[in-house]
Amino acid sequence: MYDLIIIGGGPAGLTAAIYAARGGLKSAVLESMMPGGQAAATEKIENFPGFPEGVSGFDLMNSFYQQALHQGAEFIFQQVQSMELSGPAKKIITGEQTLEARAVIIAAGSKPTFLGVKGEEPFHGRGVSYCATCDGAFYKEKTVAVVGGGNAALEEGVYLTKFASQVYIIHRRDEFRASYVAIERAKENPKVRVILNTVVEEITGHDKVEKILLKNVKTEEKKELGVDGVFVYIGTQPNTNFISGYFQTDEKGYILTDGLLRTNMQGVFAAGDIRNTPLRQVATAVGDGALAAVQVEKYLAETEKQK
Ligand SMILES: Cc1cc2nc3c(=O)[nH]c(=O)nc-3n(C[C@H](O)[C@H](O)[C@H](O)COP(=O)(O)OP(=O)(O)OC[C@H]3O[C@@H](n4cnc5c(N)ncnc54)[C@H](O)[C@@H]3O)c2cc1C
Repeated sequence: MYDLIIIGGGPAGLTAAIYAARGGLKSAVLESMMPGGQAAATEKIENFPGFPEGVSGFDLMNSFYQQALHQGAEFIFQQVQSMELSGPAKKIITGEQTLEARAVIIAAGSKPTFLGVKGEEPFHGRGVSYCATCDGAFYKEKTVAVVGGGNAALEEGVYLTKFASQVYIIHRRDEFRASYVAIERAKENPKVRVILNTVVEEITGHDKVEKILLKNVKTEEKKELGVDGVFVYIGTQPNTNFISGYFQTDEKGYILTDGLLRTNMQGVFAAGDIRNTPLRQVATAVGDGALAAVQVEKYLAETEKQK
């Protein structure tokens, strides 16, 4: 029986692990992939305090992970498939085993939203990508399209100019919803071409992506654009497929918590991108992870007193 199981080893889960281990809790982090979450796949993070020149997302997350290990946190690299949360012993079920804990922090983060157009799924890994850091290097001297209009689309679009000779940023509205710095950097980059008021209707090719069909939403005009890759950055959705109806969520499925990060299930807390929160960043995930772990300590101390 663990005191605490943390589901997800992104910045929220890793921070919770550091605090829980330092607080003397017998805790484990369950992570389905590698530690670091979405932040580890971000080329450069410039807004996490402490790094005047910015820091590679991978390096930053590796240092979180090393710190959690150093403090004595345990990591189990398995995917959580379901949970049984009603009793005092919370059961966390992976494909390989069932673990039990007195408290749980859900920090499973979010994943990219798909475009949902014809050709997207068949070309996954053959020209359609959701991670410029992972796949950008495959597009040396090629032409790519980035779909989206927020910070992620603009920042990753500019990053792709390191490899690609031409980067089209395609956005459905007439202006971007991104920071001033991100917009200016994209506009100033000679390899970036912005296409506004436009949606991607279809992705086509033979073995790999060759063209996208674009539609101008104002004029309804359609045209084909030859590209070698399509990077989709149109937002995220919560990784909640394993939570099976236990939690109150908002209309998009993000878990609702109170100010102490308690969910509606006793002894279960949520931290980071997976919860309903106005800002999804590394800094906020870190704050959530710290708060959730300290609240778990208090919760366990109180339930112990009541025995
Ligand atoms: C392209 C891009 C660029 C970004 N740039 C910045 C930036 O410059 N600055 C900034 O501050 N933020 C940035 N962000 C946002 C930042 O990465 C996230 O806010 C942060 O990673 C959220 O942390 P988290 O721990 O809540 O979730 P995540 O980072 O999503 O981590 C969740 C973890 O849970 C694991 N998991 C999910 N489901 C399960 C399961 N069933 N079982 C076990 N493990 C599971 C996942 O594998 C993952 O490792 C960016 C995000 C993207 C996508």
